[in-house]
Amino acid sequence: ITPPALSVFETLESEVRSYCRSWPAVFDRAQGSYLFDEDGHRYLDFFAGAGALNYGHNNPVLKRALIDYLERDGITHGLDMGTTAKRAFLESFQDNILRPRDLPYKVMFPGPTGTNAVEAALKLARKVKGREAIVSFTNAFHGMSLGSLAVTGNAFKRAGAGIPLVHGTPMPFDNYLDGQVPDFLWFERLLEDQGSGLNTPAAVIVETVQGEGGINVARAEWLRALADLCKRRDMLLIVDDIQMGCGRTGAFFSFEEAGITPDIVTLSKSIGGYGLPMSLTLFRPELDVWEPGEHNGTFRGNNPAFVTAAAALDTYWADGQLEKQTLVRGEQIEQALIAIRAENPGLETSHRGRGLVWGLEFGDPDRASAVAARAFELGLLIETSGPRNEVVKLLPALTVSPDELDEGLRVLARAVRET
Ligand code: PLP
Repeated sequence: ITPPALSVFETLESEVRSYCRSWPAVFDRAQGSYLFDEDGHRYLDFFAGAGALNYGHNNPVLKRALIDYLERDGITHGLDMGTTAKRAFLESFQDNILRPRDLPYKVMFPGPTGTNAVEAALKLARKVKGREAIVSFTNAFHGMSLGSLAVTGNAFKRAGAGIPLVHGTPMPFDNYLDGQVPDFLWFERLLEDQGSGLNTPAAVIVETVQGEGGINVARAEWLRALADLCKRRDMLLIVDDIQMGCGRTGAFFSFEEAGITPDIVTLSKSIGGYGLPMSLTLFRPELDVWEPGEHNGTFRGNNPAFVTAAAALDTYWADGQLEKQTLVRGEQIEQALIAIRAENPGLETSHRGRGLVWGLEFGDPDRASAVAARAFELGLLIETSGPRNEVVKLLPALTVSPDELDEGLRVLARAVRET
């Protein structure tokens, strides 16, 4: 008897797996904006490895650089030794990203994942300030390790820890009315009220667009007011750019539009370029307080990821074209979402986004998951996000073509009609 194709996932893999359930296929290869399953079915990818594949699957330029590096027996595992691959990445990051933006950061490699970068940021801020509380926001997502989970606003994910998560101070995310000036006076009063028990936090951690939280876009004005609050109240500002950085919003850093310079920035996901694990914590030079070895980890020097990361920066970030293209493609998505909503006036929907990250919110989470499930049957990968998974999230590769976008948006319109 031939066992069913999915059986080893069901029998051996933990119940915690989720994408296996949302997309019940066995994927085998991928190119550009498409994945193919082992039976040869093609899926258009509007998920992009949860934001880890901004340059598409198996991008030919990055693949060539990786193959050349492996063929010459380049270092694959390097802890934090000096290597030619790391030097090339650092030089490219300095020349293509930091210098043109006049950003003063030093760079630390805290490990392979986003949560490693967030843990390093939180720990560094606490060490510098000697204080434990961190301000974070409703519906924020910063990772699954205990420190990053403590500043994550999703109750379901927090419950996974099984213990109370402490030292996070939650605040509402960009909740000012249009025209009102965000001033955070209420927060400052809480700080001054001895009875409130709120001691000055070490830092504030924020996403400029909450990706997992439902594509909630912080306005530039609110971000500037937040940066100002941090200065006045001696708190460090950490921007978690793990999902929205590396070009997703139409600029390399998502905070550029607001004209702010955070004290600490976290990057991961697409920084490796090829879907290879890598993360960065960037910080102002005066925060460089750790002694050698005070913060480390075995996988903080993924050299093949340095190679693809440098190739991505050299190829896509030298001339500004990708930024422009991202904004143009983003408009194409917004127009299609407006049309879908107009076609379905009976549905309670709203849409929001920036650059190439968009959300179509349904009042009803069952509806959103039914749309994503129907889209999968029709060959389109989209996931849901938001506190109740009520938002269909569109996150194509930045290299997506107008025709591919059009194809996916037509499938989405059909999936909405048919559910
Ligand atoms: N921060 C943000 C904003 C994220 O979107 C994510 C992942 O989705 C993380 C942190 C955690 O990254 P990782 O899953 O690589 O630990």
